[in-house]
Amino acid sequence: MALIKCQECGQEISDEVVACPKCGYPLKTETKKPWLTFETTPTTWKDVIAILIFCLFGVLLIFLLSKFGTDIFKVLKDIMMNLNK
Ligand SMILES: [Zn+2]
Repeated sequence: MALIKCQECGQEISDEVVACPKCGYPLKTETKKPWLTFETTPTTWKDVIAILIFCLFGVLLIFLLSKFGTDIFKVLKDIMMNLNK
């Protein structure tokens, strides 16, 4: 642990702190992991597929609602009736 001078206010601060305790000037932004992970984490195919499936379900739901309209509850009721048989 060493003391360095804050670039913003000149206060002597530890080089292990994330930000200057006096003025809040952020330190070590280049070496902080969150930035690196944010930079190097690409959108994976699994994410893309998950989003696509989610969108498909949304489209399917809209399609079903527009097809059956207000009868959707009647259709559901019929399905439930058939299941109970
Ligand atoms: Zn400072």
